[in-house]
Amino acid sequence: MMEGWRLVYEGYDPAEEPLREVLCTLGNGRFATRGAGEEARGDGVHYPGTYIAGGYNRLISVVAGRNVTNEDLVNFPNWLPLSFKPEGGVWLGEEGNEFLDYRQELNLQEGILYREFTVRDPSGRETKISSVRFVHMKIPTLAGLAQEITPLNWSGRMAIRSTLDGGVTNRGVARYRQLRGDHIEVIGTGRAEDGIVWLQVRTKQSRLEVSLAGRTSVRVGSDPLRAPAEVASSEDAVIWETELDAQVGGKIRVEKLVSLRTTRDPALGDLIEDGLNDIRRAPAFDTLVAEQRLAWRLLWNRFDVEVDVSAEEDLSPYSLQLILRLHTFHLLQTASPNTVGLDVSIPARGWTGEAYRGHIFWDEAFILPFYVWRAPEIARSLLLYRFRRLNEARAAAAEGYEGAMFPWQSGSNGREETQVIHLNPKSGNWDPDRSHLQRHVNAAIAYNVWTYVCTTDDQEFLREYGAELLIEIARFWASLCHWNEAEERYEIHGVMGPDEFHEAYPDALDEETGGLRNNAYTNSMAVWCMQRAVDALHILDQSTREDLSEQLDLSAEELDRWQEISRAMKLPKMENGILEQFEGYAELEELDWDAYREKYGNIGRLDRILKAEGDSPNRYKVSKQPDLCMLFYFLTKEEVAALLEPLGYKLTVGLLKETIDYYRARTSHGSTLSHLVFAAILDEIDRDKAWSHYIEALQSDVKDIQGGTTPEGIHTAVMAGTVRHVLERWAGIQQRADQLVVIPRLPKAIRQIRFPLEYRGYRMLVRVDTKTIEIEILSGGRAPLSIQLPHRQITVHAGEYIKEEIS
Ligand code: BGC
Repeated sequence: MMEGWRLVYEGYDPAEEPLREVLCTLGNGRFATRGAGEEARGDGVHYPGTYIAGGYNRLISVVAGRNVTNEDLVNFPNWLPLSFKPEGGVWLGEEGNEFLDYRQELNLQEGILYREFTVRDPSGRETKISSVRFVHMKIPTLAGLAQEITPLNWSGRMAIRSTLDGGVTNRGVARYRQLRGDHIEVIGTGRAEDGIVWLQVRTKQSRLEVSLAGRTSVRVGSDPLRAPAEVASSEDAVIWETELDAQVGGKIRVEKLVSLRTTRDPALGDLIEDGLNDIRRAPAFDTLVAEQRLAWRLLWNRFDVEVDVSAEEDLSPYSLQLILRLHTFHLLQTASPNTVGLDVSIPARGWTGEAYRGHIFWDEAFILPFYVWRAPEIARSLLLYRFRRLNEARAAAAEGYEGAMFPWQSGSNGREETQVIHLNPKSGNWDPDRSHLQRHVNAAIAYNVWTYVCTTDDQEFLREYGAELLIEIARFWASLCHWNEAEERYEIHGVMGPDEFHEAYPDALDEETGGLRNNAYTNSMAVWCMQRAVDALHILDQSTREDLSEQLDLSAEELDRWQEISRAMKLPKMENGILEQFEGYAELEELDWDAYREKYGNIGRLDRILKAEGDSPNRYKVSKQPDLCMLFYFLTKEEVAALLEPLGYKLTVGLLKETIDYYRARTSHGSTLSHLVFAAILDEIDRDKAWSHYIEALQSDVKDIQGGTTPEGIHTAVMAGTVRHVLERWAGIQQRADQLVVIPRLPKAIRQIRFPLEYRGYRMLVRVDTKTIEIEILSGGRAPLSIQLPHRQITVHAGEYIKEEIS
């Protein structure tokens, strides 16, 4: 069944190319290449880019009169270039050729990108080209492409050129173009005895070496071309060229197989030699294609979410099913089984573009559960990225606090990578960037550790890594709090919440003074972290607990203080009884939303608009995305109530609704996370509104709803979030008190959902519709599995099949 598996673009539209390129990126959890044409160059329309998981480099640039250091996700050499030229004509990709028809298809089921087009050269010679391309999911050092070239109305000499191009820089994001992007230098090129060519580069600061080895082979009809190839090395590329006699209607097949090796690879002996061997040992191209399809089929067996949508819900041209699969596809290209054991986590924009520089944000907390429910071994590997950076986080905390303070943006070694100044494209000014004050990233890390441990019951992880992370984060929060004697409350000052529009108080004196007092989300999550750290200690056996306490110098008094803070943290409240986003928010001015909408149309990035007007979002009750309301996203309303009650705040259902309404009316949805979160937190309150937010979130990337951000990189958090929403909100999958909960609540447009799930070693297939739940237990875990269904609780074993009527 091909329905819902193919992302198809008909016709060639230069304006849409950047979006197509990013959405058609192919990757395998180790490296990824944007879906630019084989003939394309970085020329303002196209942007070929190849990124390696964790392939970062720092450069110092001079902007606005100061030195700024940025660590970027490096654009590595382009392995794609393949072109042909009829005698006396121009190369495909050069000026003068005209596309007569054009079709591009990303087949999600197979992990293959297909292109088919006809070109006419300046002398009227028409040639048809069809190509297939993969970045191999099973042999993760390999990528390949094949073109079938058919002259339609001409015969004659044809030249073929295949290049490994090291002459690339980071130029993918217009806002960053005043910063340096010359991250790599070519340090070697060569030709091996068996027709394989290679190119080696090194990043300038991180000294990461990368080699590409490639073999291009040509068949004319069914005969391999025996003509000798010329190999030329320029300063930054290796160019392989050959010539042949092309016949009208005769097919020419060109295959290009490439290996990409890096000095970050495990099991590496010699960078160049190992890459050459990859090519020498590779199976035939068609076998590789078959293996690629198989590898993806096996992945889909673990990840596909099938959704049956009622016919009235028309999201054309892309169905809900297709978009969900596209999101799953991109997540698996960012982190897959090939990622396990690599020292990386999931960047906010995948390995698909240069926005946010491949950095790791709190977005992890939106993403990790996507893996926890289906491939916990990937989730575990991603968590270890944070554990390995614990010492760096300790060093950051030591500048004034205790424990571990993780950075808002994390890259290679876990130091703070958030830029200090940021270009406002609306005004052209470099504004100070205080977003590093989003200390709540620490709560996101603790949240992920806790979610992973509770869902998988991986005690070994908790013992070896998780508990230490939780304790050091709790410690940091406790040290950030101070006692307000007058109010008899603990307070946290100088932070930013998830709503990045508010960076400081309107009257903050100089540009260095930033942050706010008592951000309700941060204060609440700080308490949550301290409580979970205590819980974790209780779960550990006594001897581990004692060892860990000794190792971390953790005393009973310290735990008492966490408990005390948990009962006396300040939560600012407004006169209407709603929690205040941060202390002082209530005094800010209301914005004339209608006037701004009328003047600017899309006001998502109100911060940039206001700053360009010489004003500041700090003055207004305006939010980019939910802030305090994020609490209801990460925690159930029962958990939030239990968290807030000891702090003197009683959360009723009525108040919950008023809180969401209040802040929703003051949110510009300037990030893709915004719609996702509102969809989730409104799900039990107002299903119609929840649905429209969900659809907005779903279409974030496929329609580039933010007007230009997607071509700079996919949004992994919203992609993961929209898939999780189907499982966790609609199918009602939850982990609660050592139980798997399945209590579906399908929206009216959804008739049926079917998906595989992994929980505590059990693999199962779940199907829900409005009347029934079916669970087929495929394989079993160690202990019997307890499942909470809408009307009863059951215990199941491997091989069982459960069918439950729910209406
Ligand atoms: C959002 C942040 C997010 C970041 C990276 C920003 O636009 O406001 O919450 O972490 O993007 O995705």
